[in-house]
Amino acid sequence: MRLPHIDTNRCTGCGWCVAACPPRVLSLQVQAWRKRSVLHAPEACTGCSLCERRCPFGVINMVKTSSAPTRDGSEDPGLGP
Ligand code: SF4
Ligand code: SF4
Repeated sequence: MRLPHIDTNRCTGCGWCVAACPPRVLSLQVQAWRKRSVLHAPEACTGCSLCERRCPFGVINMVKTSSAPTRDGSEDPGLGP
């Protein structure tokens, strides 16, 4: 399984990835007074990587996950240290 990892510090909140996601599991959310893309429903992500390809700023990287995704997205499941 591969899930998008969003580097929120570099995300501009442009929303291209949100529009590109077929199952609509990405959304823009305000964090620290800025809009950022958030994977709000990782369990419904198909791993299609359209968001990764769509991001004009290279903010999204598909990463392999070894564990079940968490719903709140507070951690990046399966990522190394
Ligand atoms: S990999 Fe596909 S389904 Fe998953 S968040 Fe990106 S566009 Fe949406
Ligand atoms: S396309 Fe990239 S920069 Fe734009 S909201 Fe998505 S992750 Fe952020």
